[in-house]
Amino acid sequence: MKEYRKKIAVLGSTGSIGTQTLDVVRANGDLEVEALSAGSNIDLLEQQIREFRPKLAAVYHEEKAVQLRERLRDMDVRVVSGMDGLLELAVMPETEILVTAIVGMIGIRPTIAAIEAGKDIALANKETLVTAGHLIMPLAKEKGVKILPVDSEHSAIFQCLSGEERRSVDKLLITASGGPFRGKKREELRKVTVEDALRHPNWSMGHKITIDSATLVNKGLEVMEARWLFDVELNDIQVVVQPKSIIHSMVQFRDGAVMAQLGTPDMKLPIQYALYYPDRRYLEGERLDFRTLKEITFEEPDTETFEGLPLAVRASREGGTMPTIFNAANERLVAKFLHREIAFLDIYDGIRGAMEHHQKKENPSLEEILDAEREAWEWVDQTF
Ligand code: NAD
Ligand code: MG
Repeated sequence: MKEYRKKIAVLGSTGSIGTQTLDVVRANGDLEVEALSAGSNIDLLEQQIREFRPKLAAVYHEEKAVQLRERLRDMDVRVVSGMDGLLELAVMPETEILVTAIVGMIGIRPTIAAIEAGKDIALANKETLVTAGHLIMPLAKEKGVKILPVDSEHSAIFQCLSGEERRSVDKLLITASGGPFRGKKREELRKVTVEDALRHPNWSMGHKITIDSATLVNKGLEVMEARWLFDVELNDIQVVVQPKSIIHSMVQFRDGAVMAQLGTPDMKLPIQYALYYPDRRYLEGERLDFRTLKEITFEEPDTETFEGLPLAVRASREGGTMPTIFNAANERLVAKFLHREIAFLDIYDGIRGAMEHHQKKENPSLEEILDAEREAWEWVDQTF
């Protein structure tokens, strides 16, 4: 009898989470990769296809897809492109889990399609949940699919909640490293460069999330993500700065007990946990050594300097299309910052401006979310 192999597809396999997902697949040897995808990095995608032999590959940019198809003529793989390609990947009949390792709210439609097709989701792509959580969570429930968090904080909370009753939870404590500019004041952030902002103290990640970590927008997105994943009130989520990223997050229960998940900073742990949940597999890597660690320190987040967090809380409190405006404006502004078209602090001014300009819609449909995204992009493009 052929041994059972769990089948996965990876949306965004050439990025930081995508490549680490494939590291986990390689190390375990019992997962089957049905599909891989990328925006435009066909050099790496080709290598991945030759190693993991998926049936389908999706490349967002059409001309890159054409090139890849040409290069892979000796292989039995279908190369598709555009949003239709991502959607086809999302609903492949064979796959059980879709890893959403794509960056940005472009992941919304494939994620929804995958849930509709009954796939479990290993969710890294937080922008999707932030903007469309009110559509995704009820749909997942209706279809009986699991949303397994890959974000390290949410994986930590998910692990702390294992075996616990939802009603026993008092609050979630999301930890934050504080990013590369922790301790700096607003004036000192005026002239920071792209290189400064990309120097994250603990994690090596894609560029967009690294900038989001420097602005603390990432922590704001994570608060919103946690609201949807764990169905808690905004007031029951607290952000705690823990500069070394040893505690990945915590849950406080009604009786005052606090559960925390600790470990060396390594995204392969949450990725592997999501892929094999509820199993815990061996994972190669450093272990925490409490003799050398000695202390774990905590601080309050500086919300006056790092406006990303309070702006996110405001967007989340207002709800409706406002989190989409917050997120879409940020995506556009971060791209401009990375292209050196705007200054670091313009990111805050741009998000705030886009939110103030927006007429909020309650309970938006997918189309209304995508309209709000366009509106935020246009506003940012006209203003900066
Ligand atoms: P990344 O930039 O390293 O990788 C992004 C991936 O998405 C690449 O494979 C890229 O080809 C693909 N992609 C981009 N645009 C695309 C398009 N239009 N069509 C198809 N594919 C496209 O990003 P990352 O750091 O791996 O982050 C991915 C997601 O995971 C983000 O939502 C991020 O917030 C989240 N996340 C990342 C980390 C981390 O450690 N990197 C941790 C927690 C959460
Ligand atoms: Mg995180």
